[in-house]
Amino acid sequence: MTTKNPNFSENMLSVEEARENILNMMFVLNTEYLPISDCLGHVLSEDISSIIHVPPWNNSAMDGFAVIANDTKSASENTPVKLNVIDSVYAGDMPSSKVSPNTAIRIMTGAPVPDGANAVVPFEQTNEIQQKANKQHLDTIDILKPVKENDYIRFRGEDIKSGDNIFKKGTILRPSEIGVLATLGFKDIPVIRKPKIAIISTGNELTDLGETIQLGKIYDANTYSIASSVEKYGGTPIIIGIAKDNEESLNDLLDKALDYDILVTSAGVSKGDYDIVKNILSQRGNIEFWSVNMKPAKPIAFGWINKSKNEKLPLLGLPGNPVSAMVAFEQFVRPSILKLKGYTKLDKPSVNAILKNTITNEDGRRMYIRVLVKKEGVDYYAEATGNQGSHVLTSMAKANGLAVCPENVLEIKSGQKIEVQMIDWHVDDL
Ligand code: AMP
Ligand code: MG
Repeated sequence: MTTKNPNFSENMLSVEEARENILNMMFVLNTEYLPISDCLGHVLSEDISSIIHVPPWNNSAMDGFAVIANDTKSASENTPVKLNVIDSVYAGDMPSSKVSPNTAIRIMTGAPVPDGANAVVPFEQTNEIQQKANKQHLDTIDILKPVKENDYIRFRGEDIKSGDNIFKKGTILRPSEIGVLATLGFKDIPVIRKPKIAIISTGNELTDLGETIQLGKIYDANTYSIASSVEKYGGTPIIIGIAKDNEESLNDLLDKALDYDILVTSAGVSKGDYDIVKNILSQRGNIEFWSVNMKPAKPIAFGWINKSKNEKLPLLGLPGNPVSAMVAFEQFVRPSILKLKGYTKLDKPSVNAILKNTITNEDGRRMYIRVLVKKEGVDYYAEATGNQGSHVLTSMAKANGLAVCPENVLEIKSGQKIEVQMIDWHVDDL
């Protein structure tokens, strides 16, 4: 690594300072009861305890025969123990007979263990299969191997006991938690609600999808990359539209964004922009225009728009270049959404990877380099995905991570390790 002392001409905020300022303005949202099928990724807003036993009764872990273990003591392949099959019981039914000495009840996985029985002999340890093949009526069964008391029985309350505290408030609901809640019979779940994120793109050059593109215009990419990022991190995107670089248009769209939890805009916040965006945002609230010590995505606006006398709508103004908007989203909007949802771990997951190509950092800002991470043997390797211009969105599409070159580090050589924030884990060959 090559480093130098910083000698910045402008007063820049570090990524951490910018993030802290932003997160200080974000508050955990209120709670609601949601149908369990809508709860994935939500955070529990109350402790959950059980009022039932799971399993609710002793039941069979295998398809087999409910027996008295002692009856099977002398069983072997050569000297099977013959028991009288007096009944059968299926999952969902209750047994109608009791097991007494020298008898067995045919039982299916999950069916309640009949009174009298204290073990289950799986089919595999009997001559059930041969009997079936010969189409014999099952009056008796040969037990080929002894079982001990309690073998193949799942006990009432073995997993959960009535009165147990199951999940604490603050638990993130993953499929396994949702499965447990369903096991306990919860239909509606108390959770922190999902944030609604309003999205506005700004710029006279932008054309919405479906419209014919005119000379000098480009399609609006940011609205859709931002909306899908919102969805990815568990928010609801609300696409407000494209604001032209004039007061009326921007005011009009801002009015439509007031009812949501955060407003994310893109473009219009860098040095060369029409002052119109900055002026309007400043008139309608309290917005700061920052230079953040990062590349891409140096210019960021942050603050709030006044909704009413006491209510404020947090605003995050991302840069216009499509990669800058996405990188800034990952650093600032993602943790904001997570905080609103009640998450407490806000850092992006990262791996240490071995660089496949040398990285140079010309101006000493913190660099986020688009890389493709692959695991080879026990190590992760990261390779830059090509042109790193902040307008080159295809190199973002080829990447599954952002390698972080620290500020003031001017070079990291091929073969050295670098921290990579993972964007996706499941994409390995793009
Ligand atoms: P600005 O921040 O307004 O100076 O925009 C910086 C660059 O990003 C310009 O080349 C814009 O045309 C481009 N840009 C701004 N908004 C979008 C958008 N929504 N989709 C694609 N490119 C955009
Ligand atoms: Mg612009």
